[in-house]
Amino acid sequence: MSKIYDIVIVGGGPAGLSAGLYGSRAKLEVLVIEKSKFGGQTATTSELENYPGSIPDCTGPSLTERMHEQASEFGTEFVKDDIVSVDFSGDIKVLNGKNAQYQGRTIIIATGAEPRLAGFENEMELRAKGVSYCATCDADFFEELDVAVIGGGDSAIDEAIYLTKFADSVTIVHRRDSLRAAKSLQEKAFNNPKIKFVWDSVPVKANGDEMLEGLEIKNVKTGETSTLDVNGVFVFVGLDPITEAFKGQVELEGGYIPTDEDMRTNVPGVFAAGDVRVKSLRQVITAAADGAMASIAAEKYIAEHETALVHA
Ligand code: NAP
Repeated sequence: MSKIYDIVIVGGGPAGLSAGLYGSRAKLEVLVIEKSKFGGQTATTSELENYPGSIPDCTGPSLTERMHEQASEFGTEFVKDDIVSVDFSGDIKVLNGKNAQYQGRTIIIATGAEPRLAGFENEMELRAKGVSYCATCDADFFEELDVAVIGGGDSAIDEAIYLTKFADSVTIVHRRDSLRAAKSLQEKAFNNPKIKFVWDSVPVKANGDEMLEGLEIKNVKTGETSTLDVNGVFVFVGLDPITEAFKGQVELEGGYIPTDEDMRTNVPGVFAAGDVRVKSLRQVITAAADGAMASIAAEKYIAEHETALVHA
């Protein structure tokens, strides 16, 4: 039988890492399970200007690496595994990973969200062959080349600005004629000589077989199509919550997990934190705060539960 942890945290982004830190500082036995890279979406973010104290020269990877180290120093255990199903019906919650089974008195779901596909022809076929979802990971492949960025939100504009450090030109293709991104980012992008905008347009097809050779786009107002002569396409059209493994075990709302203000889900002993939660602001600062709240609530749940067992 596997060890029973006080708190098992699924997801190693800012929410999970902050929950780990708070849980371990409370002297609880805490395990963080992460399927790929610690840091989550933040580890793919180049610049972080809106996390208090994070400037100058703070990047997503550098901040989350420090969060990881800090939690680890206080005793949080970490494991790489992909949770595929869970059983939250008993007092001890069970999580089934691809590699092992895990048990916890409480669970914090901090699985976050993953990049959404834009849905153009050949998008999947040319993924990692010119089509990318992470500028921090892939920007240097496009040194002195031309790239397109799809989307008009914070991610698209943030990453387009980052890409100008490598690429010769960055063409932002947006489906409307105004951006959703924060005004400060918009200003930077409009003032960057390497950035061009194609408004009211969506990608329809990535050209090429082995490697991307251009992007066909369509103007949604006129129906006109044209081809952008680019070597890379970076897609930032939003995120989808990662909750597949929890379906039927915890309440979901549009795929996201509703919680109360103490991060409690509808299942006693199960909490959710960060981007995976129904919330209005998805940022590193709100994810880290959620993680802290969830951990404190889990600690309280364990204490109350133990008292109830003793008096039963
Ligand atoms: P987002 O805010 O949902 O923006 C998605 C963008 O993609 C929107 O401009 C949207 O157009 C466009 N879009 C959606 N579906 C599309 C499609 N099928 N084809 C073409 N365009 C499409 O997503 P995000 O930028 O990834 O940000 C996610 C969350 O993280 C947000 O809460 C954001 O504030 C946060 N974030 C913050 C920062 C920061 O503060 N520095 C950085 C990154 C992300 P419309 O505008 O027309 O809807």
